[in-house]
Amino acid sequence: SQGRHFVGAADTDYAEEEDRTKAARAFAVVRGELGKTYLPLINGEYVQTAEVIDSVNPSNFSEVIGKVGLISVEQAEQAMQAAKAAFPGWRRTPVKERAAILRKAADLMEQRRAELSAWIVLEVGKPVKEADAEVSEAIDFCRYYADEMERLYQGINYDVAGETNRYIYQPRGIAVVISPWNFPLAIACGMTVAALVTGNCTLLKPAETSSVITAKLTEILIDAGIPKGVFQYVPGKGSQVGAYLVSHADTHLIAFTGSQEVGCRIYAEAATLKPLQRHMKRVIAEMGGKNAIIVDESADLDQAVVGVVQSAFGYSGQKCSACSRVVVVEAIYDAFIRRVVEATKSLNIGEAELPSSQVGPVIDANARDRIREYIEKGKAESQVALELSAPNHGYFVGPVIFGEVPPNGTIAQQEIFGPVLAVIKAKDFAQALAIANDTDYALTGGLYSRTPSHIQQAQEEFEVGNLYINRNITGAIVARQPFGGFKLSGVGSKAGGPDYLLQFLEPRTITENI
Ligand code: GLU
Repeated sequence: SQGRHFVGAADTDYAEEEDRTKAARAFAVVRGELGKTYLPLINGEYVQTAEVIDSVNPSNFSEVIGKVGLISVEQAEQAMQAAKAAFPGWRRTPVKERAAILRKAADLMEQRRAELSAWIVLEVGKPVKEADAEVSEAIDFCRYYADEMERLYQGINYDVAGETNRYIYQPRGIAVVISPWNFPLAIACGMTVAALVTGNCTLLKPAETSSVITAKLTEILIDAGIPKGVFQYVPGKGSQVGAYLVSHADTHLIAFTGSQEVGCRIYAEAATLKPLQRHMKRVIAEMGGKNAIIVDESADLDQAVVGVVQSAFGYSGQKCSACSRVVVVEAIYDAFIRRVVEATKSLNIGEAELPSSQVGPVIDANARDRIREYIEKGKAESQVALELSAPNHGYFVGPVIFGEVPPNGTIAQQEIFGPVLAVIKAKDFAQALAIANDTDYALTGGLYSRTPSHIQQAQEEFEVGNLYINRNITGAIVARQPFGGFKLSGVGSKAGGPDYLLQFLEPRTITENI
């Protein structure tokens, strides 16, 4: 059936001089605010903390973006108590009012778009255009989930003669949101507002490297009118505060996006019943991918090369949706490798802030070192087709392409989360599909082909949550490409899709004999 009509926010058009000037002005304003301190928000108050960390610019790590207070376990407990106290009032707040707060937040983000993009660019090293698209996604999540909650609130009426039967939804209770740094605004915002609009009190713990932009989201939610205790911003150490909140007896729901390792730990921990706990926890976990694009002999190589390069090296490959494997049929393998190498050579690598940069840095020193280790492994098990150098005043890793990668090699199986592409040769399309499916993950996948039978077969057999045919495999849009995977890519249903909010709700049936 036809999807409901939803109009997303428009991205900035940097071809317009006025928009470029606005962007430049926003960078100047944000630069003037660098180095400020951001404190956690507990029960409507910004609170002092014993520990403060620096969040730095990955393009230039001598630049401190902000100082962020990290809460202690005792403060996490205070936040939990405040959430519990706020819950009865929030669950009774009319859906119309809750939805209005999300729509107000969306409007505020739209007004502050250029500034928010600048913060994203500087704090997580995302190139300007991609940061701008991320602001659009955050806005869309607010507006779409507001619409969705109003739809669900109507419930379903199963009345028969002599008996009313109403199917309705209620909130679950306390939601803990653990957000990633790679979409520091959009994903943090999406998970948070989904939890809020459905009537849950929400504690947001961001990844440490993206705590400043999450503090900006906090300002916006406060300005939009979120009541105290209903939403709390609780930056802290994942291993302490994150773990404490996940295992807390009063937590009903955990919404997480991040690594498979942490996701699996959360899932296991959440399954353990604690003393005085009278419910089972719901876990929504989005945990990564090892996404493949198949290129067959009928593919338009002009299209395929551009799509693969964008999908593999956009935001330095630091997207769950990124392409990290290309499976190419033998007949065109040599031509494809030659062209993908040439196209990648033409990428501009540099500070995320420069309009000319297409590939920026990776998030931090740990990530850089881990990616470099994978590159060494790749060299031991396959051939380097291209290795680009990169600046060294930031956490840069130049794009690397490996050829003739064995389908079961480390770099063909493990998620690297960096600008490293494994090109794998297949005898024919059937073998290419088998190779693409032979992974722990099932998030995104792509096919470049003009052979109808191959397109048909991929639709039926390519094991991925989001399949893209003859286009790039990143950049899912709210209410157009609901996003999420299965197998070890995660549990729970798709962000930006019609089933997402259901996970934050308990359905009830109320029957009355009349
Ligand atoms: N939704 C994003 C996309 O389609 C990826 C999200 C992620 O990396 O977690 O590119």
